[in-house]
Amino acid sequence: MEMRADLLIVGAGMVGSALALALQDSGLEVLLLDGSPLSVKRFDDQAPFEPRVSALSAASQRILERLGVWDGIVKRRSAPYTDMQVWDGSGTGQIHFSAASVHADALGHIVENRVVQDALLDRLHDCDLGMLANARLEQMRRSGDDWLLTLADGRTLRAPLVIAADGANSAVRRLTGVATREWDYLHHAIVTSVRSAKPHQSTAWQRFTDTGPLAFLPLERDGQQDWCSIVWSTTPSEAERLMAMDDADFCKALERAFEGRLGEVLSADPRLCVPLRQRHAKRYVAQGLALIGDAAHTIHPLAGQGVNLGFLDAAVLAEVLLQAAARGERLADVKVLSRFERRRMPHNLALMAAMEGFERLFQADPLPVRWLRNTGLKMVDQMPEAKALFVREALGLIGDLPALAKA
Ligand SMILES: Cc1cc2nc3c(=O)[nH]c(=O)nc-3n(C[C@H](O)[C@H](O)[C@H](O)COP(=O)(O)OP(=O)(O)OC[C@H]3O[C@@H](n4cnc5c(N)ncnc54)[C@H](O)[C@@H]3O)c2cc1C
Repeated sequence: MEMRADLLIVGAGMVGSALALALQDSGLEVLLLDGSPLSVKRFDDQAPFEPRVSALSAASQRILERLGVWDGIVKRRSAPYTDMQVWDGSGTGQIHFSAASVHADALGHIVENRVVQDALLDRLHDCDLGMLANARLEQMRRSGDDWLLTLADGRTLRAPLVIAADGANSAVRRLTGVATREWDYLHHAIVTSVRSAKPHQSTAWQRFTDTGPLAFLPLERDGQQDWCSIVWSTTPSEAERLMAMDDADFCKALERAFEGRLGEVLSADPRLCVPLRQRHAKRYVAQGLALIGDAAHTIHPLAGQGVNLGFLDAAVLAEVLLQAAARGERLADVKVLSRFERRRMPHNLALMAAMEGFERLFQADPLPVRWLRNTGLKMVDQMPEAKALFVREALGLIGDLPALAKA
């Protein structure tokens, strides 16, 4: 039997789920589908930390509060961070950012992706939204004014508007032939959680090493501050070497690379290694189609911005669709969908370019560049106004914000 909806969201990850919730009172028949079972795990606050975490900005927090999801995150597990320390491992330059400098309580929250996802799913299960679990998209083609989607189990779905929220390797993007610009960072990221001898002081730490950035992001369990999530970006060969080490050697190598800022690294959970690739869709929209989140763009984790950009995509797209519906416009019309692209693409591109420049600057080896980098960091560290501007940008509270992210 063929199912029909006004709007199909393919992918119920963090971004697709947020979009579905933002459209819950739209009066539209929305169907959210995902290849996974979409079940919520009972939360155990003593369970080991999940290796994948996100640094959620204040803008993301506001969006999740308004969607009724934030309480579900806080009641599980999250760690606010008030400060950020960034330094150059091959020099003396360093810079410190604080929430206090802009009279904010926190710069953001480190939250395990699973926690965000489960809080979103809890909320979705409470709402009257159409959801299809174990629904893996395999084929997709135009059929009159609609899209006709075929799932792996043979079921078919029809809708005039399809939103791709199916992640970095988006099947929708591939099946609809949306072109991307992409390049390899020649970096792999090792992610895991580690326990250190000294407390993290609610600070996000980032050291630029010769082979890439190393971040220690604060985690909290029962108010204890001795666990951090690490994201260690390095060359593929170095990543291979680090992945092959036993835990004791890995902890020693990590402590050295981090200059022992949090004392001895006492233990490490199982490691994951993720190849890093920058990807950006040349267009986010076409007739009856829009791409959001990682399906539209993937960015180096040094920015800690991937899902934050995705939540803003979801909030802006929902706003554009709701306004168009109120005016009686056809939502699948590329003219309507282009309003979303015009608001999001410049912002996403600017951030990706800034991160690319940052990454190159810190990879550069020539002495004059290193000198400039160190002097620059020290100079900016003495400029409170410039730093406050950076902090406001990191909080995600400047620019063309959707109503869901406004104060
Ligand atoms: C090492 C690392 C560290 C990171 N750290 C941060 C950070 O600190 N802060 C931050 O903001 N971001 C961070 N990110 C990025 C962040 O994790 C991503 O931006 C985010 O997960 C993207 O969410 P999404 O919902 O767009 O896609 P995904 O989370 O990939 O979700 C896609 C969904 O689509 C479903 N799906 C896929 N294919 C199909 C199909 N064919 N049919 C049906 N369903 C399908 C999947 O099951 C999944 O549920 C990091 C990324 C990496 C790699």
